[in-house]
Amino acid sequence: MDTKEIIAEEQKYILSTYKRPSFVLERGEGMYLFDLEGNKYLDFVGGLAVNALGYGDKEVLAALNSQAEKLIHCSNLFHSIPGVKLAKLLIENSFAEKVFFCNSGTEAIEGALKFARKWASKNHGEGKQEIIAFENSFHGRSYGALSATGQPKYQRGFEPLLPGFRHVKYNDLSAVKAVISPKVCAVLVEPVQGEGGIFPAKPEFLAGLRQLCDQNQALLIFDEIQCGLGRTGNLFAYQTYGVVPDLLTLAKPLAGGLPMGAILLNNKVAEAIQPGDHGATFGGNPLVCQVALTVLNKLIRDQIPQKVQKMSSSLLSKLEQFPQKYSIVEEVRGLGLMIALQLTVPSAPCIEACAKRGLLVCKAGDQVLRLLPPLIVQEEHIDQAVAILGEVFDKQLDSN
Ligand SMILES: *Cc1c(COP(=O)(O)O)cnc(C)c1O
Repeated sequence: MDTKEIIAEEQKYILSTYKRPSFVLERGEGMYLFDLEGNKYLDFVGGLAVNALGYGDKEVLAALNSQAEKLIHCSNLFHSIPGVKLAKLLIENSFAEKVFFCNSGTEAIEGALKFARKWASKNHGEGKQEIIAFENSFHGRSYGALSATGQPKYQRGFEPLLPGFRHVKYNDLSAVKAVISPKVCAVLVEPVQGEGGIFPAKPEFLAGLRQLCDQNQALLIFDEIQCGLGRTGNLFAYQTYGVVPDLLTLAKPLAGGLPMGAILLNNKVAEAIQPGDHGATFGGNPLVCQVALTVLNKLIRDQIPQKVQKMSSSLLSKLEQFPQKYSIVEEVRGLGLMIALQLTVPSAPCIEACAKRGLLVCKAGDQVLRLLPPLIVQEEHIDQAVAILGEVFDKQLDSN
């Protein structure tokens, strides 16, 4: 089947919940993707922050193949080895004292919200159920995660949402102070807002949230599904900020492209949870855990977060000249390898023009162009991406 036929059949058979460009991806290699017609794309989407190690990583493939031959799944009714090793490695490298495994970011958020309410009901009785989340946040699309999400565009038409959520302005501590009370069981925050347009938290904001949570005996939950596992220049974003949460959600890059989520938690919260309280049939099966173990080992052993810091300053320093050079680029912002170009025009035509020139980028809001390259990105890729972006913005200038 050729590109046209595949796209026609897709429109016929797959529920249309995504807008996609008019090429069909077939394989990947390192930092590059290839379509059916043999066109090569430098990938600065990275599977939406999933493919931290790029495509075709030899160690990931070896782990996948050897574990698949041994045991893919045996259910959480039984003990198995890879999950234990992965949990241990996560704990040895973070604040956490216990780990829960699930299958996606949404599920990790769902579990974290449930754990927070369970902890509150066990330790503080009834009535401590409120959750504070932030405007412009994104936490997923199930009812709990969607209720936590602070963007009406994702919620419209799906009401009623779950009760007990309040949304306040991000990076505004006084807005939190105005609504926090002993009725609040948790504050849920992305250290860097991702889908909302790449907005890093101010350090004093996260530090202030920690303090307010402590004063009100509420739990602090960091959603590091997009910004965790190396992307901000440390293994975890909480380390970049030096503020320790009680719970932390992970997903996107965790298992090298296999669906997986995790909740990291301290013992204070873990003690409220008992066998039977929560579960997931596929959660933490031997296959995904063995692959995640390989990804995590590699991130640590190869000091990938440190490399992210270098590549980030290189990319940011080159992009920071853009607002002076191109009138449609209003601002460049980001942290680590989560970078946004705030445009004065819709980003969709620029994204399309980039793809035509062999560079994949994505959006995060209508006028934001978002860069989430695999963490293995090197100087040559940065130069190539910056050159293509420059050409595209030049062209957009002409057409305006
Ligand atoms: C992607 C994302 C989610 C949802 O994860 P899924 O795996 O799509 O369910 C939640 N929070 C943040 C910050 C995300 O970026």
